[in-house]
Amino acid sequence: MDKKVLGIDLGGTTTKFAILNLDGEIQQKWSIETDILDEGSRIVPNIVASINHRLNLYQMTAEDFIGIGMGTPGSVDRQAGTVIGAYNLNWKTLQPVQAAIEAGTGIPFAMDNDANVAALGERWQGAGDNQPDVVFITLGTGVGGGIIMEGRLLHGAAGCAGEIGHITVDPEGFQCTCGKRGCLETVSSATGVVRVARQLAEEYAGDSKLKAMLDDGQAITSKDVFDFAKEEDDFAIMVVDKVCFYLGLACGNLGNTLNPASIVIGGGVSAAGEFLRSRVETYFQEFTFPQVTESTQIKLAELGNDAGVIGAASLALQFVD
Ligand SMILES: [Zn+2]
Repeated sequence: MDKKVLGIDLGGTTTKFAILNLDGEIQQKWSIETDILDEGSRIVPNIVASINHRLNLYQMTAEDFIGIGMGTPGSVDRQAGTVIGAYNLNWKTLQPVQAAIEAGTGIPFAMDNDANVAALGERWQGAGDNQPDVVFITLGTGVGGGIIMEGRLLHGAAGCAGEIGHITVDPEGFQCTCGKRGCLETVSSATGVVRVARQLAEEYAGDSKLKAMLDDGQAITSKDVFDFAKEEDDFAIMVVDKVCFYLGLACGNLGNTLNPASIVIGGGVSAAGEFLRSRVETYFQEFTFPQVTESTQIKLAELGNDAGVIGAASLALQFVD
């Protein structure tokens, strides 16, 4: 049998698994609920049990696998194979994940943080076209990212490389959870888009269904903002334009510094599609110098929820001899 790799995308509510061939094609995928009770102590045993159950079911053995890769929340020590500070998993103390999974499955194991792993997935099988230089930005509840340069994921001195969500786009801006002001995350995450809408609503006097909803005290989502903008609500267009300005500014500075072949935008907010991408690109062009404008493309992510398991599986390719 041809060798395979196994990818795990560990999240706060579900843990996704996929078995891929070495060309990156998914052959099987499944998921289990993530049981975060008892300080998250059930998570790793459940992962091991699920893998062993699956292998038994399909008459596979550890020898059929090159390795297992996993994307996880929290801060990862790749050398030690540990995770700490993954609060949505209840992992407050140091977790010896690699040792437990290798002992439980007999398969070599590697992991990285979830945004980095999604970046690897989009680069390998998605919008990144397997180019050596790709930047990935995910716009979800927060804003995350991953930077791949010359075929390698960048980690930095303290593992903070690729924290694109904390690029300052407005020094006078909103307070961020990281302690500073005006981070990209405060204005382009799902909640950030709504925050920008509330701020701009204060000074907007024209006719707008979106503004009427806000003035009425109705809860709105980032999707509402984009949907109203697509219906040519002037106020919603103003909000989208502001969000795209911030994204274009951050992408422009990433482009000027790194000159990747592509900057790939994914995550829930990117469901706004070409409407979002084209506007980010317009500002990106304004904020980049000509050689970068011409050689770095702004793209939409293509893999959706599969980016995590595919990228995780690609971590296991390091075990190919
Ligand atoms: Zn921040």
